[in-house]
Amino acid sequence: MRRTRKWEYDAAVVGAGLTGAAIAQRLTEHGKRCLVLEKRPHIAGNAYDVEIDGIRVHRYGAHIFHTSDRRVWEYVSRFAEFNHYIHAPLANYRGRVYNLPFNMNTFAGLWGTASPEAAEEKLREQRVVYDHAPQNLEEQALSLAGRDIYETLIRGYTEKQWGRPCTQLPAFLIRRLPFRFTYDNRYFSDPYQGIPTDGYTRLVERMLDGIELRLETDYLSQRSHYDSLAERIIFTGPIDAFFDYAEGRLQYRTLRFEDEHLETPNRQGTAVMNYTDAETPFTRIIEHKHFVFGQQPNTIITKEYPLEWMPEAEPYYPINDAGNTAILERYLDRARAQTKVRFCGRLGEYKYYDMDQAIGAALTLADRILKE
Ligand code: FAD
Ligand code: UDP
Repeated sequence: MRRTRKWEYDAAVVGAGLTGAAIAQRLTEHGKRCLVLEKRPHIAGNAYDVEIDGIRVHRYGAHIFHTSDRRVWEYVSRFAEFNHYIHAPLANYRGRVYNLPFNMNTFAGLWGTASPEAAEEKLREQRVVYDHAPQNLEEQALSLAGRDIYETLIRGYTEKQWGRPCTQLPAFLIRRLPFRFTYDNRYFSDPYQGIPTDGYTRLVERMLDGIELRLETDYLSQRSHYDSLAERIIFTGPIDAFFDYAEGRLQYRTLRFEDEHLETPNRQGTAVMNYTDAETPFTRIIEHKHFVFGQQPNTIITKEYPLEWMPEAEPYYPINDAGNTAILERYLDRARAQTKVRFCGRLGEYKYYDMDQAIGAALTLADRILKE
């Protein structure tokens, strides 16, 4: 990447989420001049957290950092200290509580089994055998986990989360969840995990230290102005919005968050409780203080209600099914034809990235740009 005098900035980075922050940080560290544009009034994207009544609230849903990628762990550790929180959420099905992810504690709760052999035998009876590879999430769940687990812990939650029947959802969504024959309740098997002790917003603030940032600035509404300032544009917003939806709209799931402030020290005894039945309208309740082992006399809980995305709502989850993948391919063709603009991040690539994957992809892109 050569610096020519013509440009005020080497790169304008659109979006101050983890992806935008990592790219801007890396380029700046290597002597490039970056301008970060963020349309929201705050940094950190969906990882944004904010202190309310002495409790750090994950404003856009529970965010637990976890990774197997040492490079990413060493990178984030430069900007934050992490506590030793280990994520072990629970599932509440019609008032009964089960351990997640699926493990010996779950099987004991469902069937009363006490050994791996007994649990394996129960699963053998339960599993559905198909004469083809699983074609959708329901087939994947029934062949992997069997009927009881599917009906108690998967179906209701998944259909609420995605607003579609499990028969119309891609099988890979459920492959994110571990399945174990040990009494191990850790949701993530990664060697590195935790919550930044000063929060994600502070982490991103440190990443952006010394970099010019403009909040409440929508790049798309002043595109030609910013294109004239910067040699390159790194776009981490929705790829379909960048192209004015010329190939059709990509679908997203969005969420509505409902807070309750309670004058009790402990409402549910854990940071995340999933509600896996179909009747409860929300998917989970977060009790924020438990991420950092808070001892306050009060508590804040947040209920998460999934919704179909509509214009003006935040696009939280890409829906990587066949229809959207076909539309995405057309946008990726357009993206490849761009010389000035690079796309990255959960929205820029329309990929179901976790934070570590978003940061990993951002660092890889920044390093590639630095070699050009
Ligand atoms: P974003 O955080 O979406 O940031 C993109 C930014 O670009 C936004 O701030 C947006 O306002 C801005 N932007 C968009 N368009 C424009 C524009 N035109 N002009 C200016 N700015 C623009 N990951 C985990 O690892 N662990 C978890 O536990 C976890 N839980 C999650 C829970 C929920 C409810 C959600 C939605 C996600 C979760 N994730 C989790 C994923 C995590 O949020 C993402 O991996 C990460 O935030 C991606 O960062 P990003 O910068 O690519 O995208
Ligand atoms: N899932 C489920 N029951 C649960 C939790 C998750 O069936 O109690 C399924 C659901 O389909 C979900 C997928 O597993 O979309 C991935 O879950 P994860 O917790 O990784 O989702 P995220 O944290 O990204 O919302």
